[in-house]
Amino acid sequence: MAKKTPLMNQYKEIKARYQDAILFFRLGDFYEMFYDDAITASHELELTLTGKNTGEEKRAPMCGVPYHAAENYIYRLIQKGYRVAICEQLEDPKTARGLVKRGVIKVITPGTILYENAIADKSNNYLIYIHEEGRNLAAAMADVSTGECWWGLWDSRKEKGDFFDMLSVYSPAEAVLDVSDAFYETMEHYVSACLGGCLLSRRREGDVGAVIPEEIEQTGSEAVATAYRGLLGYLKEVMKTSAASFHAVMPLRQDDTLTLSEETLRNLEITRNMRDGGRKGTLLDVLDNTHTAMGARLLRRWLERPLKDVNRIIIRQDGVQELVSHATEMTRLEELLSQIFDFERILTRIETNTTSPKDLLALKASLGIVPQIKQLLGGASSVAMKKLNRSIGIHGPVYDLLDRSMNENGTGTIKDGRYIKEGYSKELDELRSLTRNSQQWIRQMEESERQSTGIVKLKVGFNNIFGYYFEIPHSNKLPVPDYYIRKQTLVNAERYITPQLKEFEIKALSAREKTEELELKIYQDIKAQIRPEIPAMQKTARAIAALDCLASLARAAITDRYIKPIITGPDVGRISVQDGRHPMVEKALKHGMFVPNDTELNHGSQEILIITGPNMAGKSTYMRQVAVLVIMAQAGSFVPARQASFTPVDRIFTRVGATDDIATGQSTFMVEMKEVSQILRGATRNSLILLDEIGRGTSTYDGMSIARAVVEYIDKHIHAYTLFATHYHELSVMASESSHIKNYTVSVREKGKDITFLRRIIPGSADRSYGIHVARLAGLPQELLDRAETILKGLEAEDGKKPVAPVVSAAAEEVQSNLFSSSIIDELAHADVMGMTPIEAMNMLFRLSKEA
Ligand code: ADP
Repeated sequence: MAKKTPLMNQYKEIKARYQDAILFFRLGDFYEMFYDDAITASHELELTLTGKNTGEEKRAPMCGVPYHAAENYIYRLIQKGYRVAICEQLEDPKTARGLVKRGVIKVITPGTILYENAIADKSNNYLIYIHEEGRNLAAAMADVSTGECWWGLWDSRKEKGDFFDMLSVYSPAEAVLDVSDAFYETMEHYVSACLGGCLLSRRREGDVGAVIPEEIEQTGSEAVATAYRGLLGYLKEVMKTSAASFHAVMPLRQDDTLTLSEETLRNLEITRNMRDGGRKGTLLDVLDNTHTAMGARLLRRWLERPLKDVNRIIIRQDGVQELVSHATEMTRLEELLSQIFDFERILTRIETNTTSPKDLLALKASLGIVPQIKQLLGGASSVAMKKLNRSIGIHGPVYDLLDRSMNENGTGTIKDGRYIKEGYSKELDELRSLTRNSQQWIRQMEESERQSTGIVKLKVGFNNIFGYYFEIPHSNKLPVPDYYIRKQTLVNAERYITPQLKEFEIKALSAREKTEELELKIYQDIKAQIRPEIPAMQKTARAIAALDCLASLARAAITDRYIKPIITGPDVGRISVQDGRHPMVEKALKHGMFVPNDTELNHGSQEILIITGPNMAGKSTYMRQVAVLVIMAQAGSFVPARQASFTPVDRIFTRVGATDDIATGQSTFMVEMKEVSQILRGATRNSLILLDEIGRGTSTYDGMSIARAVVEYIDKHIHAYTLFATHYHELSVMASESSHIKNYTVSVREKGKDITFLRRIIPGSADRSYGIHVARLAGLPQELLDRAETILKGLEAEDGKKPVAPVVSAAAEEVQSNLFSSSIIDELAHADVMGMTPIEAMNMLFRLSKEA
């Protein structure tokens, strides 16, 4: 039997404790990987696989990365769904006897990674711990990079759907599960279908000694406390720091927020677009004028979890209003915010000891701006601004400390040194000047010795045996001071040392090493001094983030001409919008081309609106617009409309478009029916429901019957605000059967075979689908279109029906047709208004009004 080398024995011992991670084993300037880890890593990172002679029969597969470049490699492995255990040399190899002691100092996982470049600035990185106990499904979730923690409790029999909704909304990077086998399996399926990047693992032991925060105590749930302990235990295990602390502990399920399922968020493109899941073209994209990464993260949360409470919404709105009406202060505030770094995350890096000096400089720069913001807010009168002002601290001592100590002119890394400022520590300055100027110092000392002794021929020399010495030629006749110690006699000179010279020598030789050590110690010291201030600074960071969000909403309101909606109490029960616009579609169209529309939903006569009209007429844009405006209003934003008032809703449900759920292999129709069933079970009188073309996945009569039954059910049992778009114009008869249901249609102008969509939603119903017209727009061959026309005529004749023009009042049609047929809009859209004199503008208006 071959015998392994001691080093490999050490490796195996450590690796045995980290089976589920790739072990980065520090050997000198490299992290090496062995055996299966090496094979995996060489494959994933495209590293050359070599072998190491370990004393075993076969050479062990091995590959490695230089330690200074490791971060990037680690990050890539994490992204690919691995854990990485970092094993360091725990003693200095130069001084260690025998085998250098090694140990794992931390395990890096997707949910705990803190590298600056690894986690997106503008979104949170969540780690969730899930504990199942009987019917209780408890979760504790953390964003380690911001020091925030959340908890939640669900009834696993009744509220599993809510639980999974929560998961898909937060989309954690990592989930640690202490659950039954059955639930684990469900999670595996769910993750592979819906949460691509989430790393799953199972654990059991929690941190028994963990102090349970008050917020969690108050839940009175042992399951939640266990989940929290589990979360802390896991963090302790992987991060190897003493207990992590959270500066904010919040509920995951907030009864005071508007619940939006992932489905709804996606359908309405609130923070992720449907095309590629990116943020381009989303509501967030339109509203995000934030200047800090902290603000950007918070704004995303505001939009994904809008408010429900009337007063809280109004407080935000008033904050936005105040900024909108104080242009100068607003601009100044934006300038200040843009100079603030992501110090929420920097603070966490200080706490977890993963900062670079650059971070402290960024913290200082941010703290330098904070008092100016506070001063600016001093004059504010809205409740929101006053409250934020109170939460913002000045942190003068921390700023002063950083200002005195941190050097702005270095590279800001530990490796390059010089990150502590000159003048902060006498000792450090001395050491530095020793290393830098040892030659100069020697000349100086030589000079001062010559002067004090009068021996002009005295010289300083150096050799490896005695180190530094003074050399005095025999020709010297003057007496040598008595503290000179003779060391060597040469043919024509004597060599001496003095205590002072030896002291200098020791300093000079070890100065470099000592400089590094001392600088690092001072740096750690500064961080230790800052640490007690972290909670207060975190509070400041959160207030700055909120302020940034308000400013962002104010900026959007100004640029896109939004108005402040009226928020009414639940007793009013009404959603009412005049000339509302879809904020994203409006942006995508040429200026002025979006046709505004009104909306009236209330618990009296307009609970359910049935919207008929041909494909491509603008039905779904209209329905989405209503929901997006509700979300904006409840997030505290202004809305694109001439006038609007909203009673907050509790949930928004959407069933729009039909997409096959390929991941679970269910048919379109099945998915659709499941969603409708969820909606009917979850909706209340205060919910908003959007149903677009339901029943499309089955035969016409089947589909129509189901669609109709769904509307009747909502009308009878739920009374939610409902928008129902359909091209089954037969469904419009329902309006005559219930006083809560009203018909709307998208107006269409017909001229011979040509029709124009006017995009205007008006009372009434369409009685044709204009499918052939849409087919013509799509460029189908003329022969085919003619044939379709003939078939349609035949069918209509059979039915004994004659096509009737859509219900559009003559006056309305004339206004709209003029608006759209003329070149007036075009000319207005292209007019260079800013470059015109008032007279030129008047003349243009005059001419256009004559043309109209
Ligand atoms: P439908 O749901 O009726 O099939 P859509 O809502 O998808 O129709 O709208 C079709 C197209 O019409 C969209 O591409 C959109 O850009 C445009 N559109 C919709 N509503 C408006 C509007 N109010 N003003 C201008 N263009 C609109």
